[in-house]
Amino acid sequence: MNPRVVLFGGTFDPPHIGHLLMAQLAHEETQAEVWWLPAPVPPHKLDAPPATPYDVRVEMVRALVAGHSGMQVSTIEAELPKPSYTVDTVAALRQRHPGTSFLFLIGSDSLAALDTWHEAARLTEAVSFLVAVRSGYPFAATYERMRSKLPRLVAQPLEMPLIDVSSSWIRERAARGLPLCGVVPEAVVRIWRRACGASNSFARACSGCG
Ligand code: ATP
Repeated sequence: MNPRVVLFGGTFDPPHIGHLLMAQLAHEETQAEVWWLPAPVPPHKLDAPPATPYDVRVEMVRALVAGHSGMQVSTIEAELPKPSYTVDTVAALRQRHPGTSFLFLIGSDSLAALDTWHEAARLTEAVSFLVAVRSGYPFAATYERMRSKLPRLVAQPLEMPLIDVSSSWIRERAARGLPLCGVVPEAVVRIWRRACGASNSFARACSGCG
């Protein structure tokens, strides 16, 4: 059988327990390695690019997955043209790893907007999707609606309890000086806080970390 890999793309600003749990459960369910793919320039966030530099987001993801077996962090998107279109990343990975089949891990909110992704139809021919449900985006209805727009789409739900946290909610808490314990591990918060020197607003946003 061909080796299988689960790809997990995201901004990860910062990475949190929702990300970690979905990656862990995807690994358990598929028995495949999970390759985390932090995006240097996320195409959906061109209007509001991540405040945290790419290298820091990569370091935070490395810290989050440290000690978890079956997970790797890939910086392939740093080598590819920007913005970091998933269709380009998957094409580059397929070229570098012939014979490997790729499954793409995604939240159901992202699935609901898949038709807005660059060359979405071509992407659905290259990968199938494993979907972690997020609040407000039930799997079956979201999948059905998206399949009417992208007929080649293949997706399956990931069994996972609803974890209603997001990086934006975490950034808001950090900006208000509220603790992040329970949602972002201490080692990740330390890296985030250390990067605070980058700019005044970033320093303010991090002043409540931990
Ligand atoms: P932001 O709030 O800044 O948009 P985010 O928390 O959604 O960030 P991303 O890095 O953009 O995090 O997410 C990467 C992928 O993980 C996306 O497909 C997203 O839908 C999914 N995801 C993020 N958090 C969760 C969660 N709590 N449950 C299920 N899926 C999630």
